[in-house]
Order: sequence, then C-alpha cells, then structure tokens
Amino acid sequence: MPLSTDVIVRRKEVTFPHKCVVCGTTVENGSTRIRGNPVGFYGVIPWIFGATKKLDVPAHQPCGSKLSRSLIIRNLSLIVGVILVLILAVSLGLSKWQAIGLAIAAIAIPIIWQVIRPLPFEFTHQSGEFKLMFIDPAYAREIATLNDGELEDDDENGREQDDSDVGSS
Ligand SMILES: [Zn+2]
Repeated sequence: MPLSTDVIVRRKEVTFPHKCVVCGTTVENGSTRIRGNPVGFYGVIPWIFGATKKLDVPAHQPCGSKLSRSLIIRNLSLIVGVILVLILAVSLGLSKWQAIGLAIAAIAIPIIWQVIRPLPFEFTHQSGEFKLMFIDPAYAREIATLNDGELEDDDENGREQDDSDVGSS
C-alpha cells in the first residue's frame, strides 16, 4: 500500500532542500508553517491551541496553504469523530466490549484516511524527535541524507522490523 515514507530526525531543526514538499518542484523563498500532529490522546489539547511543534517547510504559497488547510481539516474531523463516538457510546449505554469495539474503529479511521487521501507531508514531534512523513520516497531520502535521519522505507527494507525502541533508556 502506498503509505508514506517516514524519516526520523533527532535534531533541533530540520534542514529541507529548496523543493516544495507538496509538488516536489523547485521553490526559492516560499515557506509554510506546518503544525505537528497531535501525539497520543492528550496531545490533542496542545494541538487545538496551536502549541505543538511547528516547522517551516519549503512550499509555494498555494501549495503550502492547501497543505496546512487539509492537515487542520483532517485532524479536526478526526478529533470531532472520536468525541462523537464517545458520546454515542455513552448515550447508547453500550457494554464494555461494544465500547472497546467502537474505540478500535475510531482509531482505525486515521489509518484508512491516510491510505485513501494521503497528505504530501505531515510530521509529529515527541521527546526531541521529529517523525517526518512524506508521500514522495525520493524527497524522504533527500531529507534523511541532509539530516542524518533514519529512513523507514517499507518498500526497500522489505520485512525488516525496527526493534530499536526496545530498552533504549
Ligand atoms: Zn509547490
């Protein structure tokens, strides 16, 4: 499935090439400020108040405003969707297992959405680590090279699993 190619960057800032993250063509001066996606359930609150990490990414003006608009619409509708599911579960007086089933369905929505309507670029920032997600694998590789990043490319690494998150304290 054409999911995004992810790059992990452990730096304070991310260096981008002079290439629009949306259409992939050259951009000289234009940039757009993109909000990091909410991380986890409580990450939603800082996201709503615009307090999550922001990145200035190279983009043409129309490309950039389209990207930030679709990111906000996507995230907002996911948040509203989850709240509606919770209200529904409470008002219907669902049993514990039915409620769990609904919650799992609500969690699956963003994954399905990413497959159906992938965004050219989005990112999360957590404990000093950027997770940058690109639709264009070539762009992702370029970012990884520029920032000593770790590429998580499912197509090229095959079934190789990343077990680096086990006991790295
Ligand atoms: Zn562009």
